[in-house]
Amino acid sequence: MIPFSPPRIDQKVIDEVTAALQSGWITTGPRTKLFEKKITEYCGCKTTVAVNSWTMGMQVLLSWWGIQEGDEVILPAYTYCASANVIVHAGAKPVMVDINPEDFNISVDAVRKAITPKTKAIIAVDLAGFPCDYDQLNALVREESIMEQFSASNDLQRQLGRILVISDAAHSFGATMNGKRSGSLTDISSFSFHAVKNLTTAEGGSLCFNLPDGFDHDEIYKTFCTLILHGQNKDALAKTQKGNWRYDVEEPGFKCNMTDLQAAIGLVELERYQENLDRRKSIFKQYDAAFANESWAITPLHTTENKVSCYHLYQLRIANITEAQRDAIMQVIFDEDVSVNVHFLPLPTLTAYKKRGYKMEDYPETWNKYHNEISLPVYYNLTDEQVQTVVNAVKKAVGSVL
Ligand SMILES: *Cc1c(COP(=O)(O)O)cnc(C)c1O
Repeated sequence: MIPFSPPRIDQKVIDEVTAALQSGWITTGPRTKLFEKKITEYCGCKTTVAVNSWTMGMQVLLSWWGIQEGDEVILPAYTYCASANVIVHAGAKPVMVDINPEDFNISVDAVRKAITPKTKAIIAVDLAGFPCDYDQLNALVREESIMEQFSASNDLQRQLGRILVISDAAHSFGATMNGKRSGSLTDISSFSFHAVKNLTTAEGGSLCFNLPDGFDHDEIYKTFCTLILHGQNKDALAKTQKGNWRYDVEEPGFKCNMTDLQAAIGLVELERYQENLDRRKSIFKQYDAAFANESWAITPLHTTENKVSCYHLYQLRIANITEAQRDAIMQVIFDEDVSVNVHFLPLPTLTAYKKRGYKMEDYPETWNKYHNEISLPVYYNLTDEQVQTVVNAVKKAVGSVL
């Protein structure tokens, strides 16, 4: 069976984790701090805070920004449930909008129409690793008429004076726009280092801050180190210093710090990230070439004049089929011992969001992309021979169902 997205665990990773285990320090410590510093350098952002998942990083972020009941946060209907669940937990309303015809990302026109005086933030998702239209989105929130209707409810929001632009960069580590890397393309980005993502720490994530001048990023870093540790103003490592045991809690915080065991995996992953990215790019090229002459194949957009994907997911679509036919094609592919996937079940198809009144028919482009989509395996250890096996399985499956 060709797996869909296994992590790259080899002796190098095992040695690093073993070294961390043997170091005597297994929770947040020197490896986590180094990992944060290297992410900041790689992404070109102003500061980075490592956390235990994308989800908890975003939850803390929304809380810090003061997102609360009565607020609205705009996001695409086409994403993983995490992007919306965090908004619900913050007590705010997820305002879902449709995606672009040409890619899988949030439509800036749809965002414009969805903005109200209650809009506090936009969570744009770099689906499959392809950056959103941030030139347009960043410009939109700075338009005079949009800024005029923004209503700040705390000092942070007043300081920014406009809607906060957040990237759900769970897929886009290493992607670029105008030569700048994901993590530095909006006010704040959140990465996921979950096991299936293209840079993993088993579970994990990071918040990358890139707020405008005037925001003190050293101060923000300190604040978040506290917020992700119950609000405790000293972490476990600081408390091991002689006599340094007393601490205070000024506000109840969360508990979602990254451990040095996770960071040990991440440091190895980061060091050889370019190698991984190049391999994924090569696999994309092979898929593109294999499907170029198939009239039924709609291959994904991954490169434009100013944007380059990090090749996280290869979202193949099959023209003129129903959702049921897509599912049948996937079954045949599985029977050929190839694992495939669907990214994603649109939020309005999920019971939790149906119950909250969201309707699939309000997002036609999301449905259009979803109903005939099949994600193919893409990862460093996938060999050229296996890529060919995947291609053959897909062609056979499509032939047998169409
Ligand atoms: C994986 C994923 C998340 C959640 O990441 P976790 O680290 O598992 O919390 C959020 N958004 C998208 C688009 C994802 O694919």
